[in-house]
This record gives sequence, C-alpha cells and structure tokens, in this order.
Amino acid sequence: MMVEPTDAGNAGPSEDELARAIARLLSGPTPGVLLGPGDDAALVETGPGLGLLTADTLVEGLDFELHRPARDVGYKAIVVNVSDVAAMGGSPRFATVSLVLPSTVHVPWVMELYGGMLEACKEHACTIVGGDLSRGTEVVISVALTGEVSPGRVLSRRGARPGDRVVVTGSLGAAAGGLALLRADEQVLRAAAGTGWEHDLSQALDRPVARVGEGQTLAQHGATAMIDVSDGFLLDLSRLCEASAVGARVHLDAVPVHPSVVELSRVAEVEPLDLALSGGDDYELLATIPGDRFEQASEAMDGRFGTTLHDIGEVVGGSGLVGVDARGERPLQPKGWDHFA
Ligand SMILES: [Mg+2]
Repeated sequence: MMVEPTDAGNAGPSEDELARAIARLLSGPTPGVLLGPGDDAALVETGPGLGLLTADTLVEGLDFELHRPARDVGYKAIVVNVSDVAAMGGSPRFATVSLVLPSTVHVPWVMELYGGMLEACKEHACTIVGGDLSRGTEVVISVALTGEVSPGRVLSRRGARPGDRVVVTGSLGAAAGGLALLRADEQVLRAAAGTGWEHDLSQALDRPVARVGEGQTLAQHGATAMIDVSDGFLLDLSRLCEASAVGARVHLDAVPVHPSVVELSRVAEVEPLDLALSGGDDYELLATIPGDRFEQASEAMDGRFGTTLHDIGEVVGGSGLVGVDARGERPLQPKGWDHFA
C-alpha cells in the first residue's frame, strides 16, 4: 500500500491521537518486556550477556525522501541499527523510536512507517518499547537500540593486526546503484524498467539486510576487528584501520561488486567498482581475521546462512589504504558518504 505522507488541506493529528495509534500498534505482551510503552520508561529484563547500545537518525531530504514508501523507510530505520549491533558480534533486543513530524504528516503514513519498523523487528527478534513524538519542519526518525553480546565474543574496530586478512560478507555497491537509479534520467529508467537488476538495486537500497548471524560467526571463528559497511567500504575500512592503528592492502579484482551494478553500468554512467568501494548503505560486515581461520569461518557462514565471505586483502603495518591490481599498486582515498559534506 502506498500512503501519501501529507495532506496540505488538513491540520495534522494531535500528539495524543498519534501516540494512541502508535500504542495500539505496539500493544501486547512481549518476552523480556515487563512494562512497555505508556509509562515513564520501559522496564525490560537484561540478559546474561554484555549490553550494547546504539542509535541512528534518518533525516528527510538527507537520508530518505518523503515520497518513498513509508514502510520501507521504517524497515530501514530499524535495520541500520541492527547492523551496528551485528557489527559488534551481538544480537538486537529493545528499541526506542523518536519521531519529529511536521503537522502536515498524517496518521496513515506514520502507521505505515511503524508497520515497516515492526516488520524489521520481527525478523530480528527485537521489540520497540517506547519513544517520543515532537513537531518540526522535517521528518526525523531517530532509533536507539540495545543489544546483547557474550563477553568473550565482542568485536570492536580495534584489534586488527598486520598479517590478518581483510574480509567482507555478501556483495557491495547495490544500494548505491539503487540510489543512482532514483536519480537517473528517462533513458536509463526506460532501459531498467521491469528488469531483475532494477529490482535488485532498489531492494538493496530500500530493504537492506543486517548480517546478525554472520557477525556472530565471525566472532566465533577468531575475527579480530569488525565494522558494518554503512558509509562506504573504503571509508569504513579506513575507520577500522585507524582504530586498530594499522593500514590495509585491498585486492581490487577481489572486491565483490554486485552483478546488478554491472548491469546498471551498461546503460548508465556509473563505474561499478567505484560504487562498490565508496557507495555506502551496503550493511555488509567488514572484518579482519587471521589467515589460518578464514576457511573455517567462510564455510560456517556459507553453511549456516548461505552468505559468501570474501577475502579481499590484508592488514599491514603503518597506516592508509593501498589498492592492488594487475596495473600495480596505488593509494586509495577513503571516500564515502559524509553527512556533513
Ligand atoms: Mg556502524
């Protein structure tokens, strides 16, 4: 269902109306939640593991467009947070959702937004336990998420050691391809219409997959550091390297470029490898792991989740990123998505 976000002719709902509508959506008993929405704070059971806490904000016009399906926007708002928990080796537990809404945004749009958030929560066994509503000039969706991780299985960005392999799950560049399609001209859109690759690219942008089980598999198999690819592979790799005080060499021919991005490049002015290296919004996991642990980790990941783990480079001493291919070596600039650019 496509719901129009705004109706300029009518005044928007009151905060209480909206809060009641949301509370109805979130009602019902949930394991681990002793008090859900409706009190001053939620009361939840904490598990035996260590607690993780993360937050991510989506701003209209910057992170999403209001004319996109609200359900997809909601789904993604949860998944990007789940991905951050996954990147620590953890599992998501409880979320709060804070919304800033212009008075022109109507209840059905917000219900669709919540529908998408609940869909993502169901897939990842996490629960929305509360939140906040406020008025503003643009839609802002701010999600905070708790997670849990076994004490011996925490992975941070620090811990990569020279000699470790640089590995990445799945494939890269498809979400950036989806964004390029949104901005494409008539001719490109005609060529893309109805193709399987058009579907793949827009799904990658609207319905990212958080690699929760894969993150835990990497932690179990001796990964030394991990980050999720949210702002662009090279930018996120440079963040991991900086935190670990190391550098990395990337084998450019081994970078898993999503095949649909290659299809897109036949009809549009995009460079597939650039989208894979710097596009962002992939939510794949990027990790470092000792070379002698790679094979087992890769087999376990494929066996449990059908996800391919790619070995695409190595950690080196010093700092900075170097790209290697048949033409030789060259320094790589960690470009990517910068909210403040
Ligand atoms: Mg992250």
